[in-house]
Amino acid sequence: MSIRLSNIDARMNVFTTRKSLNEVLASLKEAKKSVGFVPTMGALHEGHLALVKRALSESDTVVVSIFVNPTQFNNMQDLDKYPRMLQADVDLLQTIGEVIVFAPTVEEVYPENDTYTPLDLEGIENVMEGEFRPGHFQGVVHVVRNLFQIVQPDQAYFGLKDFQQVAVIRLLTKKYNFPIQIIACPTLRETNGLAMSSRNLRLTEKEREDALIIIQTLKYIQSLKATKTPKEAKELAMEYFSNGKLRLEYLEIVNGANLKSLDNEWNEYTVVCLAAFCGAVRLIDNLELV
Ligand code: AMP
Repeated sequence: MSIRLSNIDARMNVFTTRKSLNEVLASLKEAKKSVGFVPTMGALHEGHLALVKRALSESDTVVVSIFVNPTQFNNMQDLDKYPRMLQADVDLLQTIGEVIVFAPTVEEVYPENDTYTPLDLEGIENVMEGEFRPGHFQGVVHVVRNLFQIVQPDQAYFGLKDFQQVAVIRLLTKKYNFPIQIIACPTLRETNGLAMSSRNLRLTEKEREDALIIIQTLKYIQSLKATKTPKEAKELAMEYFSNGKLRLEYLEIVNGANLKSLDNEWNEYTVVCLAAFCGAVRLIDNLELV
């Protein structure tokens, strides 16, 4: 990995150390250039690019980090299998505009003098993703806090594909008093409705077909909203989902503002969230109901 990194580092605009990134950012900030930031774990697809394009349209300079963060993986196999393709990512980014790529090592993101202590996330880290991936959100908070401290952007862009993550990011930004505007961007989907994800690379053609049950189930709940309570809709949707090939981890209908489950009444801001295994690959998706 270090050989690959140093090869790429020789090219313009790819930085692998805090120090080198800080040098370039310091001069940009001195020139009063605004900085937009898009944190990613790489294996970039159109969903990531949509965030970067938005950042490019709203900022003078855009930093894209590519870092597979070990602290947010509760399953080591998932971490090992996570796709890594830095060269292809850099090439892809170059097709949409001029961005600064930050591709640090673990030691750069987590220095020995790191002062992080777990943040009180007021319970939102214990439901849905948090319930099934213990420690995941503390790992997300840790990496985003460290990256925010390194990049010090004016605005940071996150995808609503990771709906619960956006709630966690908003909370950490508030708690640490980061003067950063958090911008949530819509989920990009394949034409058949499958939410784009780096993990889709690990799906076979057949599994990609099977995975459509996810968006179909989310849409089914939308269709039940006018006539059923959330509780009834959830029961029907679980039955519907069980006719497919995926193994459900959770299906929750929540108040989008506080992530609390809805039982008897729909909220003005209702989001349906789902996680399931398609073969060995864990997929998540969500839909805001209208
Ligand atoms: P990741 O590389 O999976 O950590 O994702 C980096 C950022 O891209 C996160 O803010 C994700 O929510 C966002 N993202 C991932 N997939 C999509 C998608 N299909 N549409 C929009 N944003 C996405």
